[in-house]
Amino acid sequence: MPDVEITCVQCREVFIFTEKEQEQFYQRNMMTPQRCLRCRSKKAAQRADAPTKYEIICDNCGKHDSVPFQPKTGRSVLCRDCYEAGRSRARSV
Ligand SMILES: [Zn+2]
Ligand SMILES: [Zn+2]
Repeated sequence: MPDVEITCVQCREVFIFTEKEQEQFYQRNMMTPQRCLRCRSKKAAQRADAPTKYEIICDNCGKHDSVPFQPKTGRSVLCRDCYEAGRSRARSV
């Protein structure tokens, strides 16, 4: 099988789908890639970077919210509004 030139559907750049890659893809029964290696790795990186959200219930107002960190058990968790309010209060003192 010769190398194939494919236009990336994302960045419109032409990339080479090499003979070796084709073999690997066909062995795994995968479709011909539609994105260049750069866009593919970018996509994978985005998935890895996605912030984990933890559902919390605010100790102050009872509102449901999500935070980007794991709340410590036994410690009060605040929703964004209450957290910001507490911070600005602390700053003005
Ligand atoms: Zn691309
Ligand atoms: Zn709150």
